[in-house]
Amino acid sequence: MRDFSSDHRFLSINTATVRKQGDFVAIVEACARHGIRAVSPWRDQVAHVGLDRAVKAVRDAGLDLSGYCRGGMFTADAAHRQQARDDNRRAVDEAKALSAPCLVLVVGGLPQYSRPGSAPSRDLAAAQAMVEEEIAALLDYAKSANMPLAVEPLHPMYAADRACVNSTRQALDICDRIDPAGSGVIGVAIDTYHVWWDFELFDQIRRAGRKRLLAFHVCDWLVPTRDLLLDRGMMGDGVIDLPKARATVEAEGFGGYVEVEIFSEDWWARPMDEVLATCIERFRTVV
Ligand code: ZN
Repeated sequence: MRDFSSDHRFLSINTATVRKQGDFVAIVEACARHGIRAVSPWRDQVAHVGLDRAVKAVRDAGLDLSGYCRGGMFTADAAHRQQARDDNRRAVDEAKALSAPCLVLVVGGLPQYSRPGSAPSRDLAAAQAMVEEEIAALLDYAKSANMPLAVEPLHPMYAADRACVNSTRQALDICDRIDPAGSGVIGVAIDTYHVWWDFELFDQIRRAGRKRLLAFHVCDWLVPTRDLLLDRGMMGDGVIDLPKARATVEAEGFGGYVEVEIFSEDWWARPMDEVLATCIERFRTVV
């Protein structure tokens, strides 16, 4: 396991972590100032400053990307399915322009929440089947662009509105069915916030192996959690055994950036420099 105690060269900041404190360019500049070498941008933050300007900001600051957030929201009724496909191809193109190592996929829940305007449905199994079909279709495009797709299982509390893929096993089953040969162009993003509770997690990380482990996200699970979306904890403030999770992915050969991804009204209310300094300190001591 890598020793993070004396430097933070493998730290990446998911730009949602400080989305309220500045635009994408300001975030990139702040990361560079703190010696942070990588970011993982969100599409809306990139769109806000413009893709060309975002590409230039990353390049000027000499930063890497640890991922691009996000593609997905595949579930839609017939009238909105093409829109979902077009949108995902654009996400692949943007990830390519930004030289991201992978496009993170939050796959979508029931159609009416993933693609607003879609006819309401309660058929979760149909949504799951559609997700698999659409990932398979996007995979062809991703292969032609050489842009790996990282399926991120989300905590089951988001099954209706964000993702109906909720465990690492479920995500890997999809990968194995649509890419049995292991092309390296599809795998999983392990976000400790979403999967820490899963008794199968460590076995499934071992099953994934290096080829399917495309991204590793950290934050913490607070007890109590006061908001389903916006109450993620800073590493060390909750109950997730982060070193154990990191040791397990690294034992499989994962040597990439460890991405801090925190959506929190608490942390959004603090100055950007304070949040980044805290991320660095916790990265060195509790991750
Ligand atoms: Zn994540």
